[in-house]
Amino acid sequence: MHRMLINDTGIEVSRLGLGGIPLQRIAEKEAIEVVSYAIERGIDFIDTARNYTVSESRIGKAMEQAGKKIIISSKSVDRTTDGIRRDIEKSMNELKVSHIDFYHCHSVGSDEDYSRVTAKDGALNGLLKAKEEGVIGHTGVSSYNVEVMEKIVDDNLFETIMVGFNIVEPIAYKSVIPKAMKKKRGIFIMKPLAGGVIGIPELAMRWALSFPGLIVITGMENKAEVDKNWGVLQGGYSFTDDEKQRIITQNREFTGRFCHRCQYCEPCTVNIPIYKILSIKNMVRIHGDKMLTRPDFEDTLERAKNCIECNDCLIRCPYNLPIPFMMKELVKWVDYERSRIGDAMY
Ligand code: SF4
Ligand code: SF4
Repeated sequence: MHRMLINDTGIEVSRLGLGGIPLQRIAEKEAIEVVSYAIERGIDFIDTARNYTVSESRIGKAMEQAGKKIIISSKSVDRTTDGIRRDIEKSMNELKVSHIDFYHCHSVGSDEDYSRVTAKDGALNGLLKAKEEGVIGHTGVSSYNVEVMEKIVDDNLFETIMVGFNIVEPIAYKSVIPKAMKKKRGIFIMKPLAGGVIGIPELAMRWALSFPGLIVITGMENKAEVDKNWGVLQGGYSFTDDEKQRIITQNREFTGRFCHRCQYCEPCTVNIPIYKILSIKNMVRIHGDKMLTRPDFEDTLERAKNCIECNDCLIRCPYNLPIPFMMKELVKWVDYERSRIGDAMY
């Protein structure tokens, strides 16, 4: 139960994978220590991405020190054959390896996006060529959009998928995950803690791990988090009635308030990047208070204030989120947070 074979690849890894996002926001020395500690503990699957800034290079340095085989996954948002091939080269340089086990087309968000990926000169062909050359082991794709992912799984063009799955967004288990299992695709779970919004992290992690056949990737930014998650992996996966109730309560708390980043609501009448606004709390949690003073963040926030409440986006959101109301709440929340940190700029 603690280790598993990734379907059809012959590769065995720990079911708990280390996610590379938080490694960007801590000092390099600490990041290398966290990765090294996770490897010492027994985690031998690490996921990162080209656009996680320094994450790849820090993982590369830690792997060099570890001196043992770690299964690595990286991703690129480039949608062209040549572009993704160049990104693979950059990833290999940063990770200091001559072969990357899994390489994913990162965050395919819509049917149009998927068409770009699968076009003749698209990223999928870049991955296939790289596989032929032996620089990557397996082709993969990640998406937050469950419907797009369902189509991807139906088409069966990629060997592995990476999909969001947690107690507040369990929808992938309705169709995408069982279908991918049937087709013997490797399944990586991202955001088991919904990007940190879940208030019962240990239970949420146990819940995600309780589904067999999934590799659960989560970001860890210190040794205590590695210990906690490693402990959950080693423990049993049953739940008391009280725990089941807490999971249900947490799920209900977010029902109708959780943005799945699927982008169906867009385009907004006045070009507000809706999902970016609704991800603000999460971004601040990931990148820290400094996010609140970044110029690009300010620009995004200002655009939220332009909402004319036409309600066009409401009709398109499959989760019936009260988008204009949620955006107003977030603007208020940012004002409050800024006054809390007492930033001289505001
Ligand atoms: S309600 Fe606001 S956010 Fe939604 S489409 Fe209209 S202007 Fe854009
Ligand atoms: S607001 Fe709704 S449609 Fe838009 S990204 Fe979030 S969940 Fe998807």
